[in-house]
Amino acid sequence: MTIHAKNFIAGEWVESKDHTQDLNPSNTKDVVGEYPRASAVDAERAIAAAKAAFPAWSRSSIQERHDILKRIGDEILARKDELGKMLSREEGKTLVEGVGETVRAAQIFLFFSGEVLRLAGEKIPSTRPGVDVEITREPLGVIGIITPWNFPIAIPAWKIAPALAYGNCVVFKPADLVPGTAHALSEIIAKAGMPAGVFNLVMGRGSVVGEAMLKSKDITAISFTGSVATGRKIAATCVESSPMKKVQLEMGGKNPLVVLDDADLKTAVEASVNGAFFSTGQRCTASSRLIVTKGIHDKFVDALAERMKTLVIDDALKAGTHIGPVVDQSQLDQNLSYLKIGQDEGAKLKAGGELLNRNTPGFYMAPALFTGVNNKMRVAREEIFGPVATVIAAKDYEEALSIANDTDFGLSSGICTTSLKHASHFKRNSEAGMVMVNLPTAGVDYHVPFGGRKGSSYGPREQGRYAQEMYTVVKTAYTLP
Ligand code: NAD
Repeated sequence: MTIHAKNFIAGEWVESKDHTQDLNPSNTKDVVGEYPRASAVDAERAIAAAKAAFPAWSRSSIQERHDILKRIGDEILARKDELGKMLSREEGKTLVEGVGETVRAAQIFLFFSGEVLRLAGEKIPSTRPGVDVEITREPLGVIGIITPWNFPIAIPAWKIAPALAYGNCVVFKPADLVPGTAHALSEIIAKAGMPAGVFNLVMGRGSVVGEAMLKSKDITAISFTGSVATGRKIAATCVESSPMKKVQLEMGGKNPLVVLDDADLKTAVEASVNGAFFSTGQRCTASSRLIVTKGIHDKFVDALAERMKTLVIDDALKAGTHIGPVVDQSQLDQNLSYLKIGQDEGAKLKAGGELLNRNTPGFYMAPALFTGVNNKMRVAREEIFGPVATVIAAKDYEEALSIANDTDFGLSSGICTTSLKHASHFKRNSEAGMVMVNLPTAGVDYHVPFGGRKGSSYGPREQGRYAQEMYTVVKTAYTLP
């Protein structure tokens, strides 16, 4: 039976006038369901409901919020296989990755169910005799949450959980390509026991629902993850709007993984395969620039190309698949166009890049490896967001570090080395928000801050206790008793 879904506004499931079909990228004949394409009026109703719910919710007890977040986390965990399957079916990452991401979402809700109970302020002496100073954190109001398609449950979770934990109300707009997971998550949140209006789901286009959220005077803050172009526009609108909106942006990456002569070859190859190609390379933290020093370069390239031959690219739901399809035709076209751009620029397509036929019609391509790349080429500077890695040769560690930092992005970076000296120097001098040693640039924990520098991130960090910086505002109160 095909799903016919509704939006969740003011505590009710509301029919939408317009809908869109959610397709399985592993098999485009498989329609996951019909999902709402909400109007600006739907978005405005959701915002009004959230605004009305805010005074009571912002004063709700921390016990109530703890219990609700725990119920959500527990139910996600109990249904991880079903939710993970929905995620893989509509996004195209493998079932192992889909279930893993679902477990991550549960862990995030459970983490913030604990964080609610740890909310604390400070009471400190004043410089003026007899005066008390208190510093407290308060919720902001209505948070607009706008998410991308590549992590359909983890990214919504890491925004919605802290927003609710700290007493804010939420209007959630997921990406158009992955409405099924967003809807399933919202069903779980909707029945967790929150008053009507605290959480709202409005599915639809960025240019309609997203724009309505940006225009609204009643949205206090926007937390966005997506592309640089959209993020830049959102930040400008948030600053121009009256009153100004607080804004948090998580955007693209062109993450360097440095491989030094003294690296363990197997570790470097596995980190590269995982970082560059798993999740079909559709990760903001993907290891898309492999910067390799000359002593290990040829050995590393050959070993990586050999390892790529062992990767199984097939239906995301099939057991044994390592890499699922690309998410849709337009992303596939983008990947293929970069393969041409790279070759036109003089890079060598050392392995992969072919379109693949499988038993079902889907967007299958073999992961691609470019060699002979220099850091000025477009394939080394622009985010491709597909299973395409570039190898850039460097003379030594110093040159590798300089190439790693020569980018408009700064989300994550990595180094494969057995030298403590180089690992320590890289951790200190890499211009990225997250630095990995002997690990892929992708793959992070949920209890520590996530975010980058330069064109990758703007505003406070996400995740862990650092999420407070986004979802609360600090108040300083002075009392003369
Ligand atoms: P996108 O920018 O096209 O869309 C992201 C979201 O913004 C979607 O929900 C979309 O509907 C909405 N949107 C589009 N136009 C809008 C507008 N004018 N106003 C308001 N909302 C609007 O990005 P995408 O293609 O969904 O995701 C891929 C991008 O996300 C990549 O660049 C990737 O690197 C980035 N990403 C970053 C992180 C991170 O944490 N840094 C994580 C995952 C993905």
